[in-house]
Amino acid sequence: MSDIINILPDSVANQIAAGEVVDRPASAVKELLENAMDAGATSIQLIVKDAGRSLIQVIDNGCGMSDSDARLCFERHATSKIHKADDLFAIRSMGFRGEALASIAAVAQVEMKTRQYDNELGTMVVIEASDVKEQSPCTCPVGTSIAVKNLFFNIPARRNFLKKDSIELSHIEEIFKRIALVNYKTDFTFHHNGKLLYDLRASNFAQRIAAIFGSHFKERLYPIEEKTEPVSLFGYVGKAEYAKRARGEQYIFVNGRYIKHPFLSAAIEKAYTELIPERSYPSYFVMLEVDPMKLDVNIHPTKTEVRFVDESIIFAILRAATKKALGQFSLATQLEFNPATDLDFTPAPPGYTPEVPKVDLDPTYNPFSSTGHSTTIRDSHTSHTSPGYGSERNHMDVRGSQVPLSAYENFFGENDSCQPESNKMSEASHELRTSESIQFASRYIITTLKSGLVIIDQQRAHERIIYERLMDRRMSHHAAPQQLMFPVNCRFNAADSELLKELTPTLSELGFILSPLGQNTFVVTATPPEIKEGAIQELLEKTIADYKGSMVQKFSDRDQSVCLSMARNIATRQGSVLKAEEMQQLIADLFSCQAPNISPSGKPTMFIMGEHDIADKLNS
Ligand code: ADP
Ligand code: MG
Repeated sequence: MSDIINILPDSVANQIAAGEVVDRPASAVKELLENAMDAGATSIQLIVKDAGRSLIQVIDNGCGMSDSDARLCFERHATSKIHKADDLFAIRSMGFRGEALASIAAVAQVEMKTRQYDNELGTMVVIEASDVKEQSPCTCPVGTSIAVKNLFFNIPARRNFLKKDSIELSHIEEIFKRIALVNYKTDFTFHHNGKLLYDLRASNFAQRIAAIFGSHFKERLYPIEEKTEPVSLFGYVGKAEYAKRARGEQYIFVNGRYIKHPFLSAAIEKAYTELIPERSYPSYFVMLEVDPMKLDVNIHPTKTEVRFVDESIIFAILRAATKKALGQFSLATQLEFNPATDLDFTPAPPGYTPEVPKVDLDPTYNPFSSTGHSTTIRDSHTSHTSPGYGSERNHMDVRGSQVPLSAYENFFGENDSCQPESNKMSEASHELRTSESIQFASRYIITTLKSGLVIIDQQRAHERIIYERLMDRRMSHHAAPQQLMFPVNCRFNAADSELLKELTPTLSELGFILSPLGQNTFVVTATPPEIKEGAIQELLEKTIADYKGSMVQKFSDRDQSVCLSMARNIATRQGSVLKAEEMQQLIADLFSCQAPNISPSGKPTMFIMGEHDIADKLNS
């Protein structure tokens, strides 16, 4: 029998390989932009026509190529980035397989001009379906320009497979954003069909985010930073209140490369548990730096997956850092209250020891003088034992306090050094006064923050406040029971009194003192300070009922269930008319919560309309 094995000609082999590397215009864009970055370019232009069908051109001012490299770069496995197998484990550049240009040239008409800075003349190479049509000296600027024309002209099946222009363009745009985000020190422009879509100047990460996604992002993010041995991370995570129903701007980069890593995304999202409703997603832009030796490089270069050696450690660090950013800066949210406050801040010079500020309180100062209410200044800690809002026992004060002010809001400012501002928090102080609030429909409180107009659901907000107080008390074993003037006897049916016995340890952690008297009767001698005397029996009944319900739903944490139920039943009902001071107190208390924007049952407590949102509404 005759031999049947053939070695495929290079042009066919390249076409087959090309299928893996270049499956649509966006993947060619990715390869060309990455090559430009690898070449050390500080300025990159992307020019696209017909969503990449007729033209994809990338012009860079990088190192350029010599005459012979200009020809060689289109060969398969031609790369300047690895020389020996060991290099594979220390790879830092984007590409390293030497396949991209060969693949692109196999399925398009390519024209390249390139010049190194020490050569007067550059080289032009024209290549079509792996066939070199021309190579000649040319005049051109230092750097490289590669124009890819009529992609897939020789593979009609693939060309027909392309989606409509708007879809292909959105893929290209996404690739462009990923590369431009992480390479924020590089200038980029992006033209499509002659129209300038992006014009990005070298800047810092925060400014690049704002330049790509809109300046309203400035108000929506907290900085995040952590330097540890296995991983250094830095970037921005979205404020919980801006979480969205759909996964939107979620970017993780490792060593300068965009990656998709569901496990690490989960680490960030886990930090938002209880802060945002289920099935809503925060934005984040996080860069990780790890030792390349601890990354698995044995993955396809065009894919966005990577594997880490220390995956679970990185998970824990990322989650903790996100939590820290959210916790640390939720306090700062409070500082936004005074819309007129100018947050410009200059860090103290090294070696400077700040003086302890002298606080002059004006005892006659009354922030509500225009409304005629009298107020007193009191210590902020005492707010933790303040009773409900709008209740008869209520006697509200207004908090006027000296609060350390962070310049965090300025982190997008011109002189931004990309440092998180937490360390600056202690370095400045500023007086905080809340702006006036109004109540609407006996149900909503409307006020202003620096980031916009806020509409708060009073009942849900109060639930959140009470819930956190109860949980805190339980955790800190600081029950603070309030003795009743007259002990109260409560009677239950047999089943409920059994359940109440089960709940007694939790209730006592929260500040109840109750003991069984026999015959399904309990005597209550003390309660948490939030509870009205007349309402004890009813409250315990509701708590037992909710507990039964939570057992049905297999809600595992008994303590949490009790706190949740109490919070729901103690909170100021909708329909209670609140005084100005009560609203101020509620707002202040809400913003000192860990998770001010969500009720303990997972519903939003408020929404913020930023200036942009309002302008958008009025323009639509
Ligand atoms: P890889 O990037 O994996 O090395 P490519 O096929 O993308 O493979 O590129 C092959 C080689 O061509 C690169 O290793 C680099 O030396 C050279 N090259 C490609 N693009 C550029 C560019 N824009 N500027 C300078 N050199 C480039
Ligand atoms: Mg490459």
